[in-house]
Amino acid sequence: MTVLQNGGSADYVIVGAGSAGAVLAYRLTEDPTVSVTLIEAGGEAKSLLVQLPVGFAKLVSHPGYDWRYLQEADPTINGRRFIWSAGKLLGGGSSINGQVYIRGTRRDYDRWVELGANGWSFDEVLPWFRRSEDWAGPPHPAHGQGGPLSTAPMQDFHPLCHTFMQACNEHGLPTLADYHGGDMEGVYLTSASQRDGWRCSTEKAFLRPARKRPNLRVLTHTEVERIHFDGSRAIGVDVVSRGLKQRIEARAEVIVSSGTVGSCALLMRSGIGAGETLRKVGVDVVRDLPGVGRNLQEHASVGQNKFVNLPTLNSELGAFDMIRHLLRFAAGKKGPLGAPAVQAMGLARTRPELDEPDVQLHFLPLAYDIAADTVSTASALMPKEPTVTINATICQPRSRGRVELDAQRRPKILHRFFDDERDVATLVGGQKLIAKLFDTPALRRIVIADRAPASPPADDAAWADYVRNKAAPAYHPVGTCRMGRDDMAVVDPATLKVHGIDGLRVIDASVIPSITSANTNAAAIMIGERGADMISRVARR
Ligand SMILES: Cc1cc2nc3c(=O)[nH]c(=O)nc-3n(C[C@H](O)[C@H](O)[C@H](O)COP(=O)(O)OP(=O)(O)OC[C@H]3O[C@@H](n4cnc5c(N)ncnc54)[C@H](O)[C@@H]3O)c2cc1C
Repeated sequence: MTVLQNGGSADYVIVGAGSAGAVLAYRLTEDPTVSVTLIEAGGEAKSLLVQLPVGFAKLVSHPGYDWRYLQEADPTINGRRFIWSAGKLLGGGSSINGQVYIRGTRRDYDRWVELGANGWSFDEVLPWFRRSEDWAGPPHPAHGQGGPLSTAPMQDFHPLCHTFMQACNEHGLPTLADYHGGDMEGVYLTSASQRDGWRCSTEKAFLRPARKRPNLRVLTHTEVERIHFDGSRAIGVDVVSRGLKQRIEARAEVIVSSGTVGSCALLMRSGIGAGETLRKVGVDVVRDLPGVGRNLQEHASVGQNKFVNLPTLNSELGAFDMIRHLLRFAAGKKGPLGAPAVQAMGLARTRPELDEPDVQLHFLPLAYDIAADTVSTASALMPKEPTVTINATICQPRSRGRVELDAQRRPKILHRFFDDERDVATLVGGQKLIAKLFDTPALRRIVIADRAPASPPADDAAWADYVRNKAAPAYHPVGTCRMGRDDMAVVDPATLKVHGIDGLRVIDASVIPSITSANTNAAAIMIGERGADMISRVARR
């Protein structure tokens, strides 16, 4: 038996300093009588690449900042597979993501309740979004002010965003002045998780102030290998840091906030999961919970791009252009270096009879290609000619995947993007909608020629081939430790405690029962806020 060094103790041990984990560390240490050890496998988030908004383009798939979880080949997208990026540094995903600030629709959260997550309807979660927020735009009842997380209307956007929005208007999709109150059908300029033009990650918003408190200990470059139990009670974690193995004791609770892939993998390595599957990889079963790692959901995204007759970002990447961009950012935080990944977007229905929007539209004043033989978006190539892209991302995928452990007990992602054929049909509808947008007077004025697809597909079957060849993940995995009270649920919706285990909660995007219709960072932060309150309320009693 390996003898572990004593790594100290705290009331609460949090595994993962990402979007949700950083919020938990901040809120729990507001009480000076509570001690917290926050454990992060990655390092600090000080690099300029992390702070500068455009840095995300270099951070995705960067071995120093990204877990680079690898998906198994997916037959439903013609055997292709992707690196599933996930931030591996303080702030987690919020330190490498595209900084789009968006919450999801009223219907998204009301659906959580229908699936058994009582207490998580839109009206019940809205106060927790507002609690985090310090909104720099005009006052609005959906926004909070004075919270740690800075959010802002975009400082400066590419002029073609207006052309895209006009095209949407001509198609019948209205412009919304604000999209944060639950109604997101329409088109809008993106709000960003930014402060004074720089990225505002949860590291910046929550951890930096919290690290000044004596009751918070933050360990970086420290990976949790497994949770340690006394019977069915979690009492600590075993970690490895720079080759040194230690045990850290949790006097009150262990909180797992390791992200959608990391959290379920840690539970499984620790003996919580489908018993038969765990035994196959030599893990002793502590609690047979078959839902751990199941219900994996991810948005699939497919776009089209065209050559245009006006300059776009990809045609302005020469040395002189870069100096101009740098000067604009230095002078007023303006220009492409300060922009979030997507500058204009919207939610739309591909068929009028649907009862809610089924695709998210993203407009990019550029185009890029991912080489067919690579799994990495970091190797994306940009054409030199001016181009624009419109992507359609499925809002509510019906296909589900799962995470298991491989023989080395690392996470193995088994996801079939189009396991359910209806998801292909939705994205075919999305492609036909994009074609209509490109055919509006607003966009016809600037489009010169097709680029991808090289010529319009002749019929639905040809569009379906295009979808299967081009679909890519949107970096929003959720659902592997979902809330609920049925046999496949992992955590209790009222407490986020793992069923059948004492002293153990999961608090991050993995508890989401059904993916939101848009990007997921704000939802993960909201879950962190709510989870912290659940813990503090018990402690206050
Ligand atoms: C490239 C990219 C772009 C994105 N763009 C956007 C966007 O523009 N807008 C948006 O809303 N959402 C976006 N997202 C999604 C969003 O960032 C995530 O949904 C969110 O960060 C998830 O938060 P989380 O707390 O669940 O997990 P994470 O933020 O991933 O946090 C998990 C943390 O746990 C740590 N960890 C994992 N395992 C261990 C272990 N065993 N021991 C110790 N530490 C561990 C990780 O290193 C990480 O810091 C993007 C995500 C990515 C990856």
